[in-house]
Amino acid sequence: MITADDVKRFARAQGADLVGIAPMTRWEGAPKQMDPRYIAPNAKSMIVMGFRIARGSLRGVEEGTLYTTYPSMGYAALNQIYAPMTLWNLTNFLEDEGHETVAMLNANGGEAINPVTGNFRDGWSVPVGDEKPHPDVLVHFRLAAFLAGLGEIGYSKVFLTPQFGPRQRFALCLTDAELEPDPIFEGKICDRCMLCAKHCPTGAISTTETVKVTVAGHELEWAKLNPLACEAGIQGGHDNELNPFLKEYPRRYGYGRAIGGASGCIRACMDHLEKKGVLQNKFSSPFRTERPWKLDHSQPRPPTDDVRENYIETGRIEDADAYITYNKRDNYGTDKDAKAPNPLID
Ligand code: SF4
Repeated sequence: MITADDVKRFARAQGADLVGIAPMTRWEGAPKQMDPRYIAPNAKSMIVMGFRIARGSLRGVEEGTLYTTYPSMGYAALNQIYAPMTLWNLTNFLEDEGHETVAMLNANGGEAINPVTGNFRDGWSVPVGDEKPHPDVLVHFRLAAFLAGLGEIGYSKVFLTPQFGPRQRFALCLTDAELEPDPIFEGKICDRCMLCAKHCPTGAISTTETVKVTVAGHELEWAKLNPLACEAGIQGGHDNELNPFLKEYPRRYGYGRAIGGASGCIRACMDHLEKKGVLQNKFSSPFRTERPWKLDHSQPRPPTDDVRENYIETGRIEDADAYITYNKRDNYGTDKDAKAPNPLID
């Protein structure tokens, strides 16, 4: 019979940094639209795996010199490549032992609850039976990680672990294997320093209002979050103070919106917890040694004619054709008809 230790050893060998197990009964009391027991009624256990966000993936944003690494290596590649590979292998491992497994990566789109605003999408879908929720059910990954004993939800609403603080992403498996559960984390990582709120460029994290929920007999509290301000923060702030690009930045693996580099909720929080010495993952040099930079965009910085023309033609440079056009207009030797001098040749 497969044991929790077998599962954890395998998941770690496949690449998970953290593994915790919760019995499905810990979801008792969850809203119907967010209860994973409707997805896998026979599941007995939920395996939650954490994958660290490499600290260096945030370095380019911290220095203001490279913006591809965080949205790719620190975001999309973890959620869409590394975690799913581990999920596949863990699924196969459990299936070989005769256990059905629903492998869930951190991707969304079909949920009846809008994952950004938390609002129910009226008219989105219909339940297929009287007792069933509307498809898709939205599983709250941070609550899943809490139920599996991996850490706590910080004031910022970002999940904090003793190993990495705010620096991980999650994937989970629902399985009918009955596995020894981990205890719920009873420690304290977040000290309510409020640096997450202070360093959020759009003030998305309230310093005065909080949200309280009771989960598995534990009362959890985090800041009231303004999701649309959070989205603007991801783009670099209302006034673009954390965005050095004059126009749209191309996407990486479908993620291009991490220009702000989680300035408060991950970077400021991580730096604080590391300096306090409370995280297990230690580094030989501090993450931050000087005050973070900010840009003053109050003076107009008009884009060049080429860039402006491109935007008039295409609206944005996210789609491949427009991006190629943009590169051609930038004239790095790819477009024979281009008129502008090539800085690499001329
Ligand atoms: S920055 Fe401070 S208040 Fe905010 S989540 Fe981290 S430890 Fe908690």
